[in-house]
Amino acid sequence: MKRTHIKNLHQQQGETVVINCWVDVARDQGKMAFFDFRDASGKVQGVVFGKPEVLEIAKTLRPEWVVEVTGIVNERNVKNAKEFKEEVAETGKRDFFVKDVELEITDFKVLNKAETPVFEVTESTVNTNEEVRLKNRYLDLRTERMQNNMKMRHRVAKLCRDYLDENDFLELETPILTKSTPEGARDYVVPSRLSPHNFYALPQSPQQYKQLLMTSGMERYFQFARCMRDEDLRGDRQPEFTQLDIEMSFVSEEDIMQMNEDLLIKIVTELYPEKKIQQIPFPRIPYAEAMEKYGNDRPDIRENKDDENLLAFCWVVDFPFFEKTADSDDPQAQGEWTFTHNPFSLSKPEHIENLKNKENIADIMAAQYDICLNGYEIGGGSVRAHDPEILKSILSILGHSEEKIQENFGHMLKALGSGTPPHGGIAWGFDRLMMILQNERTIREVIAFPKNGEGRDPMMESPSSVSEDQLNELHIQLKQIKKPQ
Ligand code: ASP
Repeated sequence: MKRTHIKNLHQQQGETVVINCWVDVARDQGKMAFFDFRDASGKVQGVVFGKPEVLEIAKTLRPEWVVEVTGIVNERNVKNAKEFKEEVAETGKRDFFVKDVELEITDFKVLNKAETPVFEVTESTVNTNEEVRLKNRYLDLRTERMQNNMKMRHRVAKLCRDYLDENDFLELETPILTKSTPEGARDYVVPSRLSPHNFYALPQSPQQYKQLLMTSGMERYFQFARCMRDEDLRGDRQPEFTQLDIEMSFVSEEDIMQMNEDLLIKIVTELYPEKKIQQIPFPRIPYAEAMEKYGNDRPDIRENKDDENLLAFCWVVDFPFFEKTADSDDPQAQGEWTFTHNPFSLSKPEHIENLKNKENIADIMAAQYDICLNGYEIGGGSVRAHDPEILKSILSILGHSEEKIQENFGHMLKALGSGTPPHGGIAWGFDRLMMILQNERTIREVIAFPKNGEGRDPMMESPSSVSEDQLNELHIQLKQIKKPQ
């Protein structure tokens, strides 16, 4: 018999059905046995009575065993079943735990047994030791809260995909094995067996590739891109995270901001109708004002911080293009110019002459915009320098010699000089957006398999050592690790 998903059981009242599920709860009551069964679509109660041979199997079943259950779908009329029905009538939505029907069990088949789980998966694990959760992530993900986080992550991603598809964007992949890019953070590097002593870098973002796709005439690109940055894992950072990465040709700052605003509003109104956006259009706050009024460039402008359903989006604009590296760890670097966001950006149109002539550098503002939500930066982007002379000028302000510019950026300059259209884009920190939408405290709650605070995966036990043979193939010899004094 074909399997019925639990959420659809109410459509088969009076019929004999088969469900494939986990034993969520088992309650042995002597002559009867009660169960809650769970599949990805829902939870339902099952009961065995008056069938000694079925009861015998029922008594052996333990939580988290995987079973095939045959039974008759019966309507329930107890108090909470009535309440459930009233709620369905009122909201049109059926809760995960379906209470208007139950299964009168006629047969069981055990598909797999399970060790006693190290923590209750029938309850939220929000207060369970995180290391234990990560070590047993496959169990953690069984909890209703985590299942819901994953489902909503999928739904938001799908809505973005559909929206971008309808607006003529192509979803394209860019390489994971790439070259070191000067985007600010430390690269993860991968040794090459075929080119001994050479290394790929994992992408910090697809910045250069997405711009090159504009050179290629794709005009509109997006990707859910995995980005890797080898940074110290302060607070809520992950070594790898997901960006919704977007790039468009022949656009202004305004076009990009409007489209992103429209998409964010659509996500909230369609998938989070219980939430309220504080202000539409999203307010735009100049960087200088944000720093002065809020002391940071990701202002939390919520009128009421107690309301978990209030979403206060704002744009931060008018960023300085360059800043001095005064707080750099490298004393040699003190006082040099660095970029505040992205070396490939363009300045505001009124500052292009200064950029070309390398004059009034501190006053040059970037055509850069960040999108903030409830005190977090959830995305940022810019209009890019599409003229190779301007990019050269930027790189020279940043202190790169003519030779270094050719060595590191020759390919970009060549591409820009091959008929690259004016273009710009943005990238959203997708994990962070999902964290806020799901009212979670860390991005680890919305990532299926995150790393812990030390950048390790306690379940897979990565990173790990590799064999001598692997090292030999790569021509790599390991140095002794100096013990801290
Ligand atoms: N690549 C940039 C980043 O990762 C975003 C962008 O400008 O599109 O921050």
